[in-house]
Formats: sequence, structure tokens, C-alpha cells
Amino acid sequence: RDDGPPILEVREVGKRFRGLKALDGVSLTVRHGEIRGIVGPNGSGKTTLFNVVSGFYRASAGQVALAGRPVSGARPYRLSLLGLARTFQNLRLFADLTVKDNVLVALDRTPTRAIWRYVLWPVAIWRRERRLDHRADELLARFGLTEFAATRPSSLPYGIQRRIEIARAMAGSPRLLLLDEPAAGLNGEEVRQLAEIVRSIRDSGVTVVLIEHNMGLVMSLCERVTVLAGGSVIAEGTPAEVVGHPKVIEAYLGD
Ligand code: ADP
Repeated sequence: RDDGPPILEVREVGKRFRGLKALDGVSLTVRHGEIRGIVGPNGSGKTTLFNVVSGFYRASAGQVALAGRPVSGARPYRLSLLGLARTFQNLRLFADLTVKDNVLVALDRTPTRAIWRYVLWPVAIWRRERRLDHRADELLARFGLTEFAATRPSSLPYGIQRRIEIARAMAGSPRLLLLDEPAAGLNGEEVRQLAEIVRSIRDSGVTVVLIEHNMGLVMSLCERVTVLAGGSVIAEGTPAEVVGHPKVIEAYLGD
């Protein structure tokens, strides 16, 4: 869909935890506009890969580039400014804030540099807060969360909480969204809604990479799937290609 550099390029990345090689020479390239699935047995390194790409862990070897820019070693905050957002396997919502405030705190608050801000700063601050409030409302509406705006997340069904987390990740207007097991704990209807949400995110121009155990979801959502086992990529291709791959069958049988 585009001829520029890939949105994400992981080259020969390794990650060691003392003696353990959690990642060993992992390479993958994700093009703008893709929905990429990352699958593999438990302990194969999927979350570690996300942690390296999003700057939570520092790779022991290899390079990561975001839209052609080398970002190895960059901190999570810096990566979010460069257009990367992620969710976590275990929800990380603020329990004491309302749904709307959970989204509001994630919105970009970089101060404007406009000169009149210093002359008329109370007006400027008021206008900015109003703009952020409006954007939070837009995000809530987009993800079907308007009716829960004033509710605390903990009192809501798990599927809704997952949606709040995605809305919050989207608050920074990312170019690349990493979702760590977004369907975990969801029922059939919630998984169907999740698939629609992920497609709408991709259709809005955001590339999505998701770790997922729900193979039905991976098959219906992803154009390409990367399979990890033992910290290495053992297969990559369309969902239909990888499920029939002998190495993949072997890896899952041993799980
Ligand atoms: P997956 O997400 O595919 O289930 P992980 O990336 O969580 O796999 O884990 C890969 C391997 O790295 C596992 O053996 C796990 O125990 C190990 N590991 C992950 N994070 C750490 C850590 N912070 N410290 C030590 N070992 C870790």
C-alpha cells in the first residue's frame, strides 16, 4: 500500500534474561496498513518482543526501526511521541478514575508554542482543556463508550474494560498499535466486536500488530502471521499457510 520504509522493522533482535535466551535473532517487517498476528506457544517470546519494540526492555542484540528511524534503546515515552502505542495483557486502567478521565489523561498535553498563549494564557489553557475534553468525547463515541463516561472501569464487564484500554492507546493518535492478547477473557460476542474495532482502527490508517491465542480471530483478522517458538521466528505467511506448516504443528504439539 505504500513504498516508504516499513512502519516496523525488527532486525536480528535478541533478548537474554541471565542464561535464558527469550529472543534469539528475531527479524520481522510490518508494512503500513497491515494487521499482523504474532502467535506461538506460551513462553515463545511474544510479550518480550512487544516489550523490546515498545522500549520497556532493551534488546541484547539487533535493531528496531520505526518508519525507517532507528529506535533501539529509545524509552517508551519517546516511542509514544514517535507514534507507537500498546496495550498490556493485564489491563492497566486507573481504577479510581472514570472511563472518560482514563482517556483524558492519555491525551497529548504538549503545550502549544503559539506566542499569544503567553499573553492570554488563561484563555489559551481554557481553550486547550475544552479541545481535549472534546477529543475525549470523540474517542468514547468512536469506541462505543459514551454511556460509560462517568463510570469507574472496575464496575464494567471485562470486554468493555478491554475497549477502554484500546481507546486510551488510541488517544495519542498512534501510527502503530501493539495489542497484547486483546481477546483474552472475552466472550464470543465481545470477540466479534473486537474484530470490528481492530478493522476500523486499521481502516483509519493505523497499523496493528497483535499477539493472540484465539486462532479464529487471527484467521479472520490478519493478512499475515508471524509464528514464534523458543524465541525464534519459525514461520511467517498468511494464516492458512502457517497453520499447515510442519514446524508450527510441531511447536504446538509440544506446548
Ligand atoms: P510469551 O509471551 O510468548 O508467552 P514471554 O515473552 O512472556 O513469552 O516469555 C519468553 C521467555 O522469557 C519465558 O521463558 C519467560 O519466562 C522469560 N521472561 C520473560 N520476561 C522475563 C523477565 N522479565 N525476566 C526473566 N525472564 C523473563
